[in-house]
Amino acid sequence: MSAARTVQVGGSHPYAISIGPGLLQDGTALATHARGRHVLLVSDSQVAPLYAAGVEAALRAARPELAIATHVIPAGESHKTLATLAGVFDALAALGATRDAAVFALGGGVVGDLAGFAAACWMRGVDCVQLPTTLLSMVDSSVGGKTAVDIPQGKNLVGAFHPPRAVVADTAALRTLPPRELRAGLAEVVKYGALGDPLFFQWLEAQRDALLAGDDHALAEAIARSCEHKAAIVERDPLEKGERALLNLGHTFGHAIEAEQGYSGGGSAALVHGEAVAVGMVLAARMSAALGLAPDEDTARLARLLEALGLPTRIPAGLEPEALLARMRLDKKNVAGRLRLVLWRGIGRAEVVPEVDEAAVLALLRDG
Ligand code: NAD
Ligand code: MG
Repeated sequence: MSAARTVQVGGSHPYAISIGPGLLQDGTALATHARGRHVLLVSDSQVAPLYAAGVEAALRAARPELAIATHVIPAGESHKTLATLAGVFDALAALGATRDAAVFALGGGVVGDLAGFAAACWMRGVDCVQLPTTLLSMVDSSVGGKTAVDIPQGKNLVGAFHPPRAVVADTAALRTLPPRELRAGLAEVVKYGALGDPLFFQWLEAQRDALLAGDDHALAEAIARSCEHKAAIVERDPLEKGERALLNLGHTFGHAIEAEQGYSGGGSAALVHGEAVAVGMVLAARMSAALGLAPDEDTARLARLLEALGLPTRIPAGLEPEALLARMRLDKKNVAGRLRLVLWRGIGRAEVVPEVDEAAVLALLRDG
């Protein structure tokens, strides 16, 4: 079959991430991750029509004795809810799923987070196999074991740490992904280079056209290297007590932008998560330069790469600097008048700066 790459994730619950084109058609390999007799394939209303029947057929052909059902949830963050979760439990009950059942999560981060949380809860924990179909879910949400749903009071407030049994990333699935979603995922890929790997950053600069064109080989390499970075960081800090915070590079600024736009009500002009992170990383770089931590040239290089990848690098017009600062303040770890931020000393050298003066942040936000 395809020349798949594998990334091993260690820690107390080790698992493998397989990456390559065509992996969703490899029923034999997929079936090895189903330990018992029951598989619930969870997907969303955009992804299921494209890939669910193929995955189900591949599993059946490899293991005819498996009891398999497909459960489709509505696509979109607004459906990552307790009500949708309850529907997954109903589907598991209808299937007669026992302790050795497996939940296969076929879709982006919304499906992965929700189906992963369902697996964490069902009978106090059954296997979850992540089949990510967006670039963001391949390089970020499917790795690391965080699962959750949203409640009206906030995103991801109800969840669990539940590492997957395996992750299978079929790069061919990215061909149907809307280009804007691909670019948003590339922002998170750039993040890994920016936070800890200058050579990967350089490689991304050289490969940017291939990545944008959806080249299988370049994407598989970018995904594998991103997963290696996330896996290594998560392995050293599984419960986010220290180093894992570096994965939030660009995210404090980014989340403030997303929150100010309204998580879903911002219309098509509103930035999606990866785009907000792109802007946020440039703001973090500019903040670092302003504080004398890093050279201006590194900010310029970061902005050039992101722009070449079709990503925004400035705060969208119409957002109030004071309102953005107020959003950033909501982070519980902050001390009065000071913000805890992930900044950098240059490309590949991110670090947590515990007390950044709010006035300096406000000056930066006013500059756009
Ligand atoms: P998503 O799951 O909403 O997918 C984006 C859109 O693309 C959806 O409409 C989906 O139906 C569609 N889609 C997915 N794959 C497709 C394909 N191959 N072809 C065509 N369309 C496709 O969003 P996302 O960006 O993948 O994930 C965002 C979610 O991930 C958020 O809920 C976020 O909280 C979560 N997340 C979790 C972690 C974690 O560590 N658990 C990390 C980062 C993000
Ligand atoms: Mg992110």
